[in-house]
Amino acid sequence: MTALVTASVTTPETTSPACRSCAGTDGAIVLDLGAQPSSELFPAAADPGPDPLYPLRMWLCAGCGLAQLADDADVPEEPLGREPAALTAQRVEAVRELVAAGVLPFGGTALEFPSPHGGTWLGLLAGHGFTAVEGPGRPADVVVDGCFGLMHEPDQDAALRERMAAVRPGGRLVLQYHSLEAIMAGAQWNALRLGHYAYYSTPAMARMLDAAGFTITSAHRFPLYGGTVALTAGRTAERPIVDTAAVEAVLAPERAAGVLDAARVGALQDSVARTAEELRALLVEQRAAGRTVYGYAAASRAVSLLRLAGVDATLLAGVADAAPAKQGRRMPGTDVPVVAPEALAAAVPDLVLVFVSELVAEARAALPQIERAGGMWLDAGAGRRTGSTG
Ligand SMILES: [Zn+2]
Repeated sequence: MTALVTASVTTPETTSPACRSCAGTDGAIVLDLGAQPSSELFPAAADPGPDPLYPLRMWLCAGCGLAQLADDADVPEEPLGREPAALTAQRVEAVRELVAAGVLPFGGTALEFPSPHGGTWLGLLAGHGFTAVEGPGRPADVVVDGCFGLMHEPDQDAALRERMAAVRPGGRLVLQYHSLEAIMAGAQWNALRLGHYAYYSTPAMARMLDAAGFTITSAHRFPLYGGTVALTAGRTAERPIVDTAAVEAVLAPERAAGVLDAARVGALQDSVARTAEELRALLVEQRAAGRTVYGYAAASRAVSLLRLAGVDATLLAGVADAAPAKQGRRMPGTDVPVVAPEALAAAVPDLVLVFVSELVAEARAALPQIERAGGMWLDAGAGRRTGSTG
């Protein structure tokens, strides 16, 4: 069996996109992954496909510096994922650090803009004296977009202003995002995903906030996904107290990494072919040696990687995922089935490639029988070299 033949590809726009934040049209395509299936729609295993494909390209606005999806496509999604424990733990850490730094109001109300990824800060904020209120139309002292909700909004300017409008006078907006600088540093090109419209750098976020009348008041960086940033911001007209040292400590390394420079961001493209070719070479070598290889985590970021590497079920016997809703389905754009962790253990694999680095420890702990039977785990997260099994 070969990887599924694919369906009609939506033709990419030939004109320059208009920026989702500043509406500017001057910019550059910095990453092009070609035609990709929805990474949040896992077809039933019995569904023979073909799966519809859409162009997947990142465009960097020369005006405001926001990295974003170049193309608008109404991509079908059905989020079924289970949140990694690392993400839950990070949220606890973020709230603790923001409270300890004294950059949130001292109690009051909290309003959350939810994320299709799930997760919430409200319970954690309640532990620090914040009473949750339901939006919309109920301004709050703290407005949180802490679970990567904002990136799902096609109109970034409108979405940011909606969140700002919900902040009461003297209140704070809290935003958390995966840093573009971390994507660059870790060659995490497969963070680019249909449905994720924006990839924030802190310099670009500062401009977006400034254009709408807000000022960053504090910034904290956490190790999740190689670099996750939590910002607080308040109305510029209120002359909020700014923790300049903390903000600059996050801004300066991102500026130095060239997050606003199309040529520097465009270096991501160089790692695409390398990563895909290394994965394919590894799988072909394992197949030739008669070894059984599985994947772990039917994550969105594994979708483009498997497709670009031309992976099918003869190379990768299955991908295990703890989310029951994904089991019995297949990886989009391929015939590789998604199986339960128990089925992975029962298959006694020689090698398990973990597509999400944050899940390596969790998966090894949950399935000790794999190593007991002589199997090996390999971190195949974004940008990781997969050429060595040692
Ligand atoms: Zn722009």
